[in-house]
Amino acid sequence: MTACNDEHLTAIREGVRALCADFPADYWRRIDEEKGFPDAFVSAMTAAGWLSAMIPEQYGGSGLGLAEASVILEEVNRCGGNSGTIHGQMYNMFTLLRHGSEAQKNHYLPRLASGELRLQSMGVTEPTTGTDTTRIKTTAVRQGDTYVINGQKVWISRVQHSDLMILLARTTPLAEVTKKVDGMSIFLVDLREAIGNGLTVQPIANMVNHETNELFFDNLQIPADSLIGEEGKGFRYILDGLNAERTLIAAECIGDGRWFVEKSAQYARDRVVFGRPIGQNQGVQFPIAEAHIELEAADLMRWQACADYDAGRNAGASANMAKYLAAKASWEAANACLQTHGGFGFACEYDVERKFRETRLYQVAPISTNLILSYVAEHLLELPRSF
Ligand SMILES: Cc1cc2nc3c(=O)[nH]c(=O)nc-3n(C[C@H](O)[C@H](O)[C@H](O)COP(=O)(O)OP(=O)(O)OC[C@H]3O[C@@H](n4cnc5c(N)ncnc54)[C@H](O)[C@@H]3O)c2cc1C
Repeated sequence: MTACNDEHLTAIREGVRALCADFPADYWRRIDEEKGFPDAFVSAMTAAGWLSAMIPEQYGGSGLGLAEASVILEEVNRCGGNSGTIHGQMYNMFTLLRHGSEAQKNHYLPRLASGELRLQSMGVTEPTTGTDTTRIKTTAVRQGDTYVINGQKVWISRVQHSDLMILLARTTPLAEVTKKVDGMSIFLVDLREAIGNGLTVQPIANMVNHETNELFFDNLQIPADSLIGEEGKGFRYILDGLNAERTLIAAECIGDGRWFVEKSAQYARDRVVFGRPIGQNQGVQFPIAEAHIELEAADLMRWQACADYDAGRNAGASANMAKYLAAKASWEAANACLQTHGGFGFACEYDVERKFRETRLYQVAPISTNLILSYVAEHLLELPRSF
């Protein structure tokens, strides 16, 4: 298994930390208050090559594995930042890399690696079908040299800060396929051409400063060569990238959790009430200690998932369990941190409430905890399928 203290991983941690030092807490606080987007941070991460870590060297990236990529996102969150603003590019790139044609890879990957283009968005979720993805209603109909897209998506993130988006749409009606997972296809949509020409973007105000949107497709025409891989196999392609996505999210949660534990311990040492540091009270110590233990345990499963994925083994079990454990541990750490800070936990200048909101998201998106439990029950424990 990849060890978390391998020398090259330590070097990555140090490199990312050095970059993050230029984007301290007040940077993220200001962006959060303004409901802005951290463009300068994203550009700096791109220029330093961190966002192209997993793009093979032949296309201008560093050709690193999932373990290394996970450390990059973990460190951003551990330094107090929000890697929800950059992770899309890391995992959307997989779909293109694994299933794109040679022409698509040659055209897009070097431009993604150089930062000329951003592939930050993936459009899957729809308002009327939610988690039941095989029932999506957005359609793509082939007409000569184009596909015509109609339908609606919801919660599609970073569309306003991305040039490209991977879109899942039905190319064969559900009633005409034998298996419900068949008949869906994925497309690489050029947002710069689509927005205003059949695609309307409606931002969704939400609890986190996460740029996310409703999308309306009204006869959007895209070139037929936007199709990735074979028509009808898109759902399988999307699933293929999910184990990597879940492992990366687990690492982000570990980064958040460590930030909460360090922040809690520091405050508990410094804050004096009743003539002694609050951290001298076991009632204050224990939730912090518990959060630390649970994070360390979740981290072991994250390394298992990285090792499985990077060795080419099926990472379904370890990636799902890592995401579950890490999202739960970071949320418990957030809760302990807020409680340790008492009233000051609610003051924006301490950053706890911001990170508290940010880490809560990971129990819902990109996959909700219930769906992971369902995967474990049905795929690992062979319980009857519920849907
Ligand atoms: C900030 C944010 C950003 C997002 N970004 C993206 C994005 O970029 N691209 C994208 O495609 N999607 C995105 N999503 C969507 C996200 O993946 C979904 O919100 C999530 O998968 C849940 O779907 P839903 O909201 O429709 O919930 P629903 O499917 O309506 O489910 C609601 C609740 O019921 C539970 N539930 C539903 N069915 C079952 C069942 N059979 N058994 C047990 N429990 C069940 C779910 O676990 C959930 O807790 C984002 C969401 C948010 C909040």
